[in-house]
Amino acid sequence: MHYFSTNKKAHSVNFREAALAGMAPDKGLYFPEEIPKLSADFISNLKSKSKAELAYEIIKPYVSNSIPEGVLAKICSETVNFDFPLVQVNEDIYSLELFHGPTLAFKDVGARFMSRCLSYFSKESKKKTTVLVATSGDTGSAVANSFLGVEGVEVVILYPSGKVSNIQELQLTTLGNNIKAIEIQGDFDDCQRLVKEAFSDNELNQKMNLVSANSINIARWLSQQFYYFFALQQWSHPKPPVICVPSGNFGNICAGLIAHLSGLPVAHFIAACNSNDAFPDYIKSGYYNTKDSISTISNAMDVGNPSNFVRILELFNHQHEKIKQKISSFSVNDELTEKTISEVHRKYNYLLDPHGAVAYYSLRSYLDEHPHEKGIILETAHPVKFNTVVEPIIKKHIEVPLSVQSLLEKQKITVKINPMFGLLKKELK
Ligand SMILES: *Cc1c(COP(=O)(O)O)cnc(C)c1O
Repeated sequence: MHYFSTNKKAHSVNFREAALAGMAPDKGLYFPEEIPKLSADFISNLKSKSKAELAYEIIKPYVSNSIPEGVLAKICSETVNFDFPLVQVNEDIYSLELFHGPTLAFKDVGARFMSRCLSYFSKESKKKTTVLVATSGDTGSAVANSFLGVEGVEVVILYPSGKVSNIQELQLTTLGNNIKAIEIQGDFDDCQRLVKEAFSDNELNQKMNLVSANSINIARWLSQQFYYFFALQQWSHPKPPVICVPSGNFGNICAGLIAHLSGLPVAHFIAACNSNDAFPDYIKSGYYNTKDSISTISNAMDVGNPSNFVRILELFNHQHEKIKQKISSFSVNDELTEKTISEVHRKYNYLLDPHGAVAYYSLRSYLDEHPHEKGIILETAHPVKFNTVVEPIIKKHIEVPLSVQSLLEKQKITVKINPMFGLLKKELK
């Protein structure tokens, strides 16, 4: 398999090169030259396969000979070695819980797959590999956790001081070993700008393999297909589900769409957005206008210009009409999000996090217009990650899962710097 750049001004590359580069040199996103078609047999036998087997068979054509089969099989089985339960919330809505991984958010899947691929690739390289990532919370913790102890790879995480939740900060800053957390005295945009400067700095790039771990990386993007298949494995209704994805940079929903185009039965997709509504506007009008991001309580989706939008265009040959047929989109404000958390908890005794609540409200709205369908929301994070939002709404304390309780006793270790590239460069060398 080869990957072309969506800007069409860079060479096609294989999986290894695309995963190591992150973004293409012409600043486009890598996109597979063809979408593999899964056989009808494969689709009708989903239930008879293990998660690891499914993951392997789905990703194999994308990786082709960049990684030997035995190594890839092991990477796949380690990537998905936790639960992905499909939980029924009420008569027509189910929740695919993607928060049972080590950092309690769906990003664990992409990060675990990517870290293991890079670990394999770094063994073939003489230069040291440094993964550099800017985070507003969830990405950094998933990346840190999945690269912990990976030989030959150092991870540097930039996060905005005072702007991530307590649990998120502890997840980023207490691991030590090959994981270094840098606290930036600025906001998330400062962190992102510093990361970009590092990637265009010749001296640094000559010295080390500088790798980006953000969601445009194909290793993260494509492996997110796995759990859409796990959802269908657990689906018992005759008609395929409507799947509703809480969306920010649109990497997650793009993975679902590519799974669908390769044969996974899905009736319809819903891109659920908070007040950051560039995509819902596009669906309505056919015009895409990027916007400044607005802060909300579902902050992992506070994105004004979703980076994977170009991949959606590519998946549907830039045809607005086709995109509209397959994807509906809603914008849900904070007030409705809070109301949804409260109502679903009261009526069905199911606890949503703010991102899941945006998805629930969107799916509910769609099903009200399409009463013969049933649907699935992707619950992308554990509510405890957003306890300061959720607890006052339900007026109850949320138990911290055992797996993260020990975090609360740990000491954070960071380097704190002003948002100046010279200072970051010193830390990287
Ligand atoms: C990152 C994130 C999202 C958004 O996912 P995209 O792939 O960027 O659309 C949604 N929910 C949670 C909890 C996240 O961490």
